[in-house]
Amino acid sequence: MEKKELIVIGAGPGGYAAAFLASDLGIKTTLIDGADNPGGVCLYRGCIPSKALLHAAKIINDSVEAKQIGIDFSKPRLDINKLRKWKDDVVRKLTSGLGQLSKQRKVEYIKGTAKFLDAETIEVASNNVASKYNFENIIIATGSYPAMIPGIDGVSKNILDSTSALEINDIPGSMLIIGGGYIGLELGTVYAALGTKITVAEMLPRILTGVDEDLMKVLFKKVKSAFESVMMETKVVSVTESANGIKVVFENVRKEKSEKTFDKILVAAGRKPDSKNLGLENTGVEVDSKGFIKVDNQLRTSVRNIFAIGDIAGEPMLAHKASHEGRTAVEVISGKKVVFEPKAIPAVIFTDPEIAWCGLTETDAKKENREITIAKFPWAASGRSLTLNRSDGFTKLIIDTDTERILGGGIVGPGAGDLISEIILAVEMEANAADIKLSIHPHPTLSETIMESAEVFFGQSTHLYKPKN
Ligand code: FAD
Repeated sequence: MEKKELIVIGAGPGGYAAAFLASDLGIKTTLIDGADNPGGVCLYRGCIPSKALLHAAKIINDSVEAKQIGIDFSKPRLDINKLRKWKDDVVRKLTSGLGQLSKQRKVEYIKGTAKFLDAETIEVASNNVASKYNFENIIIATGSYPAMIPGIDGVSKNILDSTSALEINDIPGSMLIIGGGYIGLELGTVYAALGTKITVAEMLPRILTGVDEDLMKVLFKKVKSAFESVMMETKVVSVTESANGIKVVFENVRKEKSEKTFDKILVAAGRKPDSKNLGLENTGVEVDSKGFIKVDNQLRTSVRNIFAIGDIAGEPMLAHKASHEGRTAVEVISGKKVVFEPKAIPAVIFTDPEIAWCGLTETDAKKENREITIAKFPWAASGRSLTLNRSDGFTKLIIDTDTERILGGGIVGPGAGDLISEIILAVEMEANAADIKLSIHPHPTLSETIMESAEVFFGQSTHLYKPKN
């Protein structure tokens, strides 16, 4: 049986980043995935197609909002086939580019499905042929898949998950989104812009659980006006196919029932780690009660030469976390003494407005009883924000009151996802508020709101009169 130096199972942003670095470091690497090219969930049915469609939604929304500043466009005419083709082309360009990079780096790419036979052997099924391989080291990067709600699955072909919703096969008149998390809200933003009446049903008392409340509230206000309805503390208790669509019965927190019929339902109730059909039971690799593979801070599982990275290895289930874990695992395999202990893994919700945060959140600081100061700068005081006809956002820094060190930050507003990187760097470099305050930011830009937040900390913001007590 052929013994491979390094096998990576799964070619998402975790797996391909790991395989590429391994090859750069001179390790002979085999990458296995079911698709023609690397990309995984993120490129084929996650981050990239959703952001392409959100760009289309932004153009539509901007054209409507332009009326406020004296530019009145007529209603956009949609060519849904062309839009779908453009989105698919974006995905094709990126994934075939990754295929090229894989070839250039001489990574052996096997199209197939891998399964462990024991802790030293995998079997790869490819075109009805099964091949067995041993390995010196192996990285599991098999990611996650959309969770379905029992009792709803299979009731109707009009019940979608994030993968089928991204196909935009048509533009339904109405859609119920079950789940007020980021995937539901991003896809709701897309379909609402295309003309669908969106209803969101969330079981918990608020959308985006875990996100700081002040950041969430700015988005919530916008979402409430863009969507038909957002119902909190509401459970879906039954779903049946009827002549007019899918009839849904809801139950609220007071146990009152109501019903409504929708053209489509999108289930956006979280994601599950893809660990079930891997044959892990043959290996001794430990899995937790949710199906995540347990790893240490070097991404090593309970079996020394088996590593796990990305969504399969736990929260946060985000592409950039997967890539960085992949690179760390490879460095460990190559003999470097490194650990994965980031101070600031960012998260971005690409709605309108966007929400982005990193490092310590206000919510966690409260839970941990940390002595912090919040320095907040409202975008209504930002010249750049007003020139964009948007003043609904804000920037905040979470600062250690004693050391004045930047521990985290949050931004809500257009482009928040791009702006957050400065705060990530500040947290990772252990910068303090003065470092940001004294760094000259270009004018007029939204990035100035980060500098002015630092000025707010000292009670010296040029554009906000807020003396320090
Ligand atoms: P994945 O990308 O899930 O890739 C795993 C790969 O392994 C897949 O190709 C799978 O087919 C393959 N595989 C599974 N089992 C086997 C097997 N037995 N043999 C061979 N191959 C196998 N994250 C962000 O950071 N930013 C975003 O904006 C964002 N937007 C998202 C939008 C949507 C709609 C969704 C669904 C997700 C989004 N995510 C986003 C999450 C992001 O896609 C994941 O966190 C990321 O893809 C995880 O990467 P990964 O490498 O762990 O695995």
